[in-house]
Amino acid sequence: MDYEALFTSALDDLKTEGRYRIFAELERKRGSFPRARCHNHEGVEEVTVWCSNDYLGMGQKDIVIDAMHQTLDKCGAGAGGTRNISGTTHQHILLERELADLHNKEAALLFTSGYVSNWAALGTLGERLPNCVILSDAGNHASMIEGIRHSRAERQVFKHSDPEDLNRRLADLDPARPKLVAFESVYSMDGDIAPIAEILDVCEAHGAMSYIDEVHAVGLYGPRGGGVAEREGLMDRITVIEGTLGKAFGVMGGYIAGSAAMCDFVRSFASGFIFSTALPPAIAAGATASIKHLKVSQLERARHQERVATVRRKLNALGIPMMDNPSHIIPVMVCDPHKCKMISDWLLDNHGIYVQPINYPTVPKGTERLRITPSPVHSDGDIDKLVNALSEIWSHCALARVPVAA
Ligand SMILES: *Cc1c(COP(=O)(O)O)cnc(C)c1O
Repeated sequence: MDYEALFTSALDDLKTEGRYRIFAELERKRGSFPRARCHNHEGVEEVTVWCSNDYLGMGQKDIVIDAMHQTLDKCGAGAGGTRNISGTTHQHILLERELADLHNKEAALLFTSGYVSNWAALGTLGERLPNCVILSDAGNHASMIEGIRHSRAERQVFKHSDPEDLNRRLADLDPARPKLVAFESVYSMDGDIAPIAEILDVCEAHGAMSYIDEVHAVGLYGPRGGGVAEREGLMDRITVIEGTLGKAFGVMGGYIAGSAAMCDFVRSFASGFIFSTALPPAIAAGATASIKHLKVSQLERARHQERVATVRRKLNALGIPMMDNPSHIIPVMVCDPHKCKMISDWLLDNHGIYVQPINYPTVPKGTERLRITPSPVHSDGDIDKLVNALSEIWSHCALARVPVAA
């Protein structure tokens, strides 16, 4: 058997379809985000990053970095073990308290990433609650889908952000069965926001638990950065709130927040929590500093929303097609995998603008896009450069524009 040939032919298929992934090799520079150094075969060049999920630039903030330095110097590099075996440090406990407080819940539980938190929490709840059925939004993230699959619980996929379809499905289920409804607040690729209150109404009418992924919302929405559910005054109606420390909080890690018993249940049964080394204390301290800051400071959130609105307005004025949505995510629609990759390469090579192409399977075929994420630290000059470069390539490739409103 020629195993190498098997690997290569699978990769060749990806290349033919225009969805072979090439990573940009970046070197982030403290204090100069969104600027970064990009290493390529020709050497190193300075680029402006337009697709980071460090949405607020918190990964570069002195308060976060200082907290990490201090803890690194005081406590050393790693946690030294799983949470159960010598890896629960003071910094982990402080962070879990901070998170419980952020979401106004009794408790929170940390994981090494948001992916692991979804995988482990959904896997454990679905597996350990007898005869549980999980209702999963059709737009859910891979980490939720994998967690649900891993649970081996019965799964039903309801139409994306459709409380009526959810209601019909729940009504057909035995009222005595445990039920869990899993969905997101801000969907990361289309940037749409779930009708959370309506979904919770349906959950409550049928005695179902609710599980919300607020990964693209924590830090960014709500008066204390608790997410869309905080902004809408809905946190207390949600059974499990899941989030990441790696996006708007700028560091790394994932978590769930909820009742003390629910968190203790997942802590006690989740393999992905129990058998994995805890996050380094310095990471936990950095995340805590970031959350604490964003609980009281509105500056970053306000500037973020203003920058997003400015980019949208300027792209609109030039007729560059965007998916309309109420969030901070700006999907510029190319709708062809080869062109999407080509435009991304051209922006990088000719303008030092880095926007990763988003192709299938991350988004459906035919909806390939450039997912632009403005941050508070993108300047007016950065925005003008981006918008003018996009306009130039749109003309050059004779791509369709949308009519510009007078
Ligand atoms: C990125 C992402 C995750 C995973 O979080 P990480 O901390 O990056 O592992 C979970 N859910 C959604 C919707 C995401 O986009």
